[in-house]
Amino acid sequence: MEKTKVRVAIDYLEVNGVFNNQIYIMTGGVWTNLCMMSCTNCGELFVFNMQNPKYAEFSIKKVGDRVKCPNCNIELKDSIEKYPQTFRTTNGTLAHADSTYVSDELKTEMIDVWEII
Ligand SMILES: [Zn+2]
Repeated sequence: MEKTKVRVAIDYLEVNGVFNNQIYIMTGGVWTNLCMMSCTNCGELFVFNMQNPKYAEFSIKKVGDRVKCPNCNIELKDSIEKYPQTFRTTNGTLAHADSTYVSDELKTEMIDVWEII
């Protein structure tokens, strides 16, 4: 697995009274074909290209079938979820983002994430 750069917007969500839970949201554009996911065990971020013919027959869960998380070495088939729909909060619990709308007020940044290929 190799790292790739993607542009993301940075947002902060409130979870159980804690307001500084940072999430990244893909900004679209040239990254529209990429689906962002994360390891629910450690929070490591991944993308895979939904247009890759290799994945045509796979669901998102199946993509993790043959892959271990490079950060915590867990098998991703048991620990991968769509991100930021499921994300780790600052205190390590899992939470869910209802909306992944990128408003113009959000700052964007290039980040390095693992690309599952
Ligand atoms: Zn992990």
